Amino acid sequence: MASFQDFGLREEIMKAIERMGFVEPTPVQVETIPLIMKGKDVIAQAQTGTGKTAAFGIPILEALTKGVKPFSLILVPTRELGAQVSDELKKLSHFMDDVRVLPVYGGRSIDDQMDALRKGVDIVVGTPGRIIDHLRRGTLSLSEIEMLVLDEADRMLDMGFIEDIEYILARTKTPRQTLLFSATIPQAVREIASRHMVDPVTVLIGEEQLVLPTTKQIYFNIERKNKIWALCRVLDAYHPKAMVFVQTKAMVDIVTKRLVSYGYRAAALHGDLTQAKREKVLEDFREGKTAVLVATDVAARGLDIEGVTHVINYDIPEDPEIYVHRIGRTGRAGKEGIAITFITSKEVHLLRKINEFGVTEITKEEVPESGQKDVVRRVMDFEDQADMFGMVLFKVVAGDGEPVERGTLLELLHRKLRIPEIAVGNINVLKDRTEFEVHKDSAKKVLMELKGLRAGDKRLRVELVHRELPPISMQ
Ligand code: ADP
Ligand code: MG
Repeated sequence: MASFQDFGLREEIMKAIERMGFVEPTPVQVETIPLIMKGKDVIAQAQTGTGKTAAFGIPILEALTKGVKPFSLILVPTRELGAQVSDELKKLSHFMDDVRVLPVYGGRSIDDQMDALRKGVDIVVGTPGRIIDHLRRGTLSLSEIEMLVLDEADRMLDMGFIEDIEYILARTKTPRQTLLFSATIPQAVREIASRHMVDPVTVLIGEEQLVLPTTKQIYFNIERKNKIWALCRVLDAYHPKAMVFVQTKAMVDIVTKRLVSYGYRAAALHGDLTQAKREKVLEDFREGKTAVLVATDVAARGLDIEGVTHVINYDIPEDPEIYVHRIGRTGRAGKEGIAITFITSKEVHLLRKINEFGVTEITKEEVPESGQKDVVRRVMDFEDQADMFGMVLFKVVAGDGEPVERGTLLELLHRKLRIPEIAVGNINVLKDRTEFEVHKDSAKKVLMELKGLRAGDKRLRVELVHRELPPISMQ
């Protein structure tokens, strides 16, 4: 684990970092601070809230030499960000000798800013418009700038500051060190970088840094009705210390009750519990008296429990960030953890959302096999068997192994079973059987009623054709 110690920072800055409550550097800080301290031009891409300000602020303060003209210029898109960045710099330089940080943006008195600039400023933090104002008035000189930062570069370009930025860069000392921080790196940002930076090193910090690398992530394609079955299969197969996340308090109770009735040591955790009850539930789980904690996100927020081996997303969360928080409950302290997510056919987009969020690859696996008879039987769920259009595949055999002609089959499906035309898909007449598709809503009817019928004098046998999953039994 990286620490601020590793950077070899001066004592005043170390004290300030401690005072600010930073325990360890964030991933973007780990990657960029050493490069910046080496004098490299750096392009860093990281989400907001990942500590980019200190990532450039610390090395600037580390390198700072005081003169009459500013040592560093930090360009930001908005006033609010200007205020935030200058506050953070003031905090980071709290124990240093009088570091003069000047926020320069509209809405503040330009006279005060001119006064301060005349007396001498070390670091200027400003929006492009107001900086240009000062350049035109001759009240600001960039001829001594050693370190220049484009903070939130993508937003600055979105806001149409491209020409202003070019204007400012053209008036800034060269050579100098140029740093570019951005949440995204669109083409326009790359162009600026190639024109104004020297051999820049690019640092990309994906959200995957949030996920602990020891956590293995898998998912099962499983429909709602079979989730309890799959959960029991997992509990039997791994004997885990598991946290099971479900969407609602009511579902927490339902799932817990069913698990307990099957003999699993499970307990519920949700917001309706009294504080005393909640503490008891957590204590039992911590001590291993219970093995399965079924919880809502709200109830489990911030919980840090030793030795959780499995996080099970009984319901996949809508928000990828919640997914990340949930699976952060396992795989702690170097121990391998497993995160299993149940995904119904209607939730595939949520899986995609999580993958796009950049968390990591979640791989598909099958629900573990049972050696003996399942306590909870897997139920017939045509949803499981349907393709992306909702069609389920059947085969029908007449007599001792003949196909049913297309016209005869359609006649039976429409006239006898009253299945609408639109619910019948492909029909494939083969040598010894006929395969046909029916929409899942009509599938049960086909299975129950078609087999009693005859084509001519031949009895029909009907079976579901499993497209992918192992055979299942009717319940
Ligand atoms: P960004 O610019 O990436 O959006 P900021 O630099 O504004 O993020 O930082 C977000 C918050 O995180 C700030 O309150 C900042 O003080 C805090 N922060 C920065 N670095 C650390 C750290 N190493 N540990 C804890 N908090 C930090
Ligand atoms: Mg920022």
